[in-house]
Amino acid sequence: MTAVLDTPAPEQQLATKPSLAGLGRTGLKAALASIGVPDKQLNMRVGQLWSWIYARGATSFDAMSNVSKDVRGQLQAAFTLERPEIVTEQVSTDGTRKWLLRLPRRGREARAPEIETVYIPEADRGTLCISSQVGCTLTCSFCHTGTQKLVRNLQPEEIVGQILLARDRIGDWPGAAGPGDGGLIPDADRKITNVVLMGMGEPLYNFDNVRDAMAVAADGDGLALSKRRITLSTSGVVPEIPRWGEEAGTMLAISLHAVRDELRDKLVPINRKYPIAELMAACRNYPGLSNARRITFEYVMLKDVNDSLADAKALVRLLAGIPAKINLIPFNPWPGTAHECSDWEQIERFAEVVNRAGYASPVRTPRGRDIMAACGQLKSESLKLRASQRTIG
Ligand code: SAH
Ligand code: SF4
Repeated sequence: MTAVLDTPAPEQQLATKPSLAGLGRTGLKAALASIGVPDKQLNMRVGQLWSWIYARGATSFDAMSNVSKDVRGQLQAAFTLERPEIVTEQVSTDGTRKWLLRLPRRGREARAPEIETVYIPEADRGTLCISSQVGCTLTCSFCHTGTQKLVRNLQPEEIVGQILLARDRIGDWPGAAGPGDGGLIPDADRKITNVVLMGMGEPLYNFDNVRDAMAVAADGDGLALSKRRITLSTSGVVPEIPRWGEEAGTMLAISLHAVRDELRDKLVPINRKYPIAELMAACRNYPGLSNARRITFEYVMLKDVNDSLADAKALVRLLAGIPAKINLIPFNPWPGTAHECSDWEQIERFAEVVNRAGYASPVRTPRGRDIMAACGQLKSESLKLRASQRTIG
């Protein structure tokens, strides 16, 4: 593991100039109007900014050669194109990268909130795992984020900002060295091909902001990530699932983790409100569901808790008739957890039952273990480090 960046926690400053990076068209329009761009020019200017920010990855207004010098100067005086600040960047031996990011304080926040973003390169794709909230209101027993209180929802631009920052850091813009050659990056050359909302937080509890952010991510004139390559993962906020399908239309993943209500009530407590049968009904009715557009069911392997072969068989029965993929996730332990990861042989036996039912290679290989790339871990680790630094110093 290499930590290539590590900035100390400073006395937080409120951002002086707001950043335009991450804003939707309405936000950009309002920003341009506020610096006096005439109404009849607004749409044209928004289009220019859009292309520079989202298709070419501009980080300064100077680069925007087709924007008049005057307007560039006004933009420069009033705004920035800053991304979230990097607190740490860790690179795993397997190429996985994990960023701890600090966001500008909002309102009366005493501390600048911190979130995490993870990039996972694979042979046929590169997946960016982004956060939707700082902390989480839910308390799933195996998840470290669940032990952190919800601090706040992320704004749409803070969600999009994670994608921009990751593309900056891994050189994923056209021409990589800098903008200027125009156009979109060809699909085949992209490093980030997929985005998953599987970082910190429950995205369906920040519905509007996550939807608006994904609209920016999917916009064909900018980041142009196909909705089929964006996956929202939910613990099961049943009433919002059909609305997400209609209004956002991305792929869906369900954090199932148990096939019996009495166990799921304990592991994923939102189950007490929306039990398995209701969740399955929402899945069956998910708009656009087909064999080409399957729902992913995530199942974390917890030793002697949910990993029996009877559970594997019940899982297959439960999903019968739903176009589904199954992801068996080896539990990633964290300090203080009561859970253990299932033995590898047991995971294989469980996977065999699932495989026999027609689901291909369902075990998700642990990535970035050396940098603890599981939900919620890095943030806690950094807090711990600071506490110990305080004791020593
Ligand atoms: N709140 C949403 C999305 C974030 S969690 C949800 O629960 O789906 C993303 C995934 O990471 C979920 O499937 C979650 O169950 C899983 N996860 C959380 N902690 C984990 C751990 N310690 N080991 C393995 N997977 C974990
Ligand atoms: Fe929140 Fe998802 Fe973690 Fe549950 S698994 S506590 S819903 S982030």
